[in-house]
Amino acid sequence: MSVLVVIECANGEVKKSSLEAASYGSKVAADLGTTATAVAIGDVQPDALKGLGEQGITKVLLDNDKRLHDFVGAAYVKVIAKAAEQENSSVIVLSNSNIGAAIGSRLAVKLIASLATNVVSLPQINGSTFTVRRGVFSGKAFSEVELTSDKKIIAVKKNALEFDTTAGATATVENFSADLSDADFVAAPKETIKQSGDILLTEAEVVVSGGRGLKGPENWHLIEELAKTLGAATACSKPVADVGWRPHHEHVGQTGITVSPNLYIAVGISGAIQHLAGVNSSKVIVVINKDPEAPFFKAADYGIVGDALEIVPKLIEAAKAL
Ligand code: FAD
Repeated sequence: MSVLVVIECANGEVKKSSLEAASYGSKVAADLGTTATAVAIGDVQPDALKGLGEQGITKVLLDNDKRLHDFVGAAYVKVIAKAAEQENSSVIVLSNSNIGAAIGSRLAVKLIASLATNVVSLPQINGSTFTVRRGVFSGKAFSEVELTSDKKIIAVKKNALEFDTTAGATATVENFSADLSDADFVAAPKETIKQSGDILLTEAEVVVSGGRGLKGPENWHLIEELAKTLGAATACSKPVADVGWRPHHEHVGQTGITVSPNLYIAVGISGAIQHLAGVNSSKVIVVINKDPEAPFFKAADYGIVGDALEIVPKLIEAAKAL
């Protein structure tokens, strides 16, 4: 028996959310007295996978089929199911990403497994029953669910848990083939990722986000400059994208992108529940708003009450001086 972790890769690298899934899987494996193996899918070189040893992974299976560089649900599920069969894995850990969401239910049907998504806790293990905590209602509440079937799939929410790493530990990387045929790629939507800077919004460690309080697109250079100084990605509220100040691929929230950075700086954003739904799993939230009653302050770790057009230039100056 082993734990299998699904590792998503893009542009030659392991995605950060998958590093967390790897740590989670290793911890579950240790609790079960077994080992954690990973199966890597996507555009990545073997050397980039060895570092998964730092997350406690002992072995990585890599399917080098180039057709897997773009996400294709049926093919991804086939690769993971075959790896699970080969490794005799009864627990499969995914990250709760768009890809994780797309394959989790398909995989559950294929393996006749129970599935818990948006998981924010390690499982309490009682015999063959796992109890996990899930975020529900856009992160406003939690529910506890029991997974009682033999096979279990857990999709882990990004930034929900802290893990230790073992510096310098390496994993062995083995070639693996699921013997995919063209039929597995019949429905092959091409993944299109739009991004405004060098940093992918969903993977960014720091996000600087602006709302209607910025007054107009002519002031957006403040958001961009602060983001550049901090090495951050830029984002915005929905109305800002609706009126065309910013492109829609930057809009975060219930109807936009979900982000989970270590630091989310919200500038001139009121903090409506629909916006919070996309940002409330950020580790630290800083809010800049001229209205001390703005709802966002309730979700903030740090808040500055004042005019963004005066405060942001000072922040840029201070960040540059660091
Ligand atoms: P406003 O509500 O206009 O707030 C602007 C804020 O800026 C205010 O708090 C104000 O005090 C502050 N401000 C003004 N001037 C300054 C200044 N000079 N300096 C500092 N602060 C200043 N919204 C999203 O963002 N994402 C979503 O995914 C989303 N989905 C939605 C889905 C549905 C079904 C619905 C009904 C709504 C959705 N919304 C979404 C819209 C959401 O309800 C809010 O209307 C929106 O988030 C408000 O955007 P805002 O905070 O930029 O603008």
